[in-house]
Amino acid sequence: MHEFSLMEATLELVSELVPTHSIDQIISLTLRVGEASGVVPEALGFAFEALAEQLPYSSAKLKIELVPVRCCCQSCQFTFAPESFIYECPNCGNLHAEVLQGKELELVSIELDSWNSLSPAPVSMELN
Ligand SMILES: [Zn+2]
Repeated sequence: MHEFSLMEATLELVSELVPTHSIDQIISLTLRVGEASGVVPEALGFAFEALAEQLPYSSAKLKIELVPVRCCCQSCQFTFAPESFIYECPNCGNLHAEVLQGKELELVSIELDSWNSLSPAPVSMELN
């Protein structure tokens, strides 16, 4: 399962970012998931529950922020939210739009149970 390996990579990253002595203080992890990332949020949630069982922070929560797709037309620079998988510019009809957001999977924050909460710069996961 794709989401399972993504979650494994995410948790590996978490163990690198959080100091060992604070690892059992994790309350929640926040991921930003693009609606066009191909990642199913529910499947991420299941993978997290399965994997977190064996971790010192097994009671931690996974929070997911969905990011809607935004495109920028390469012809007229109009930015828009596409209504389907065809990213057609509603302004000029061009089909060559650059995706500005909506394809990402990022770890945006790690909440710790103390004064030393951690908000690393968003870290992108490799989706391939
Ligand atoms: Zn356009």
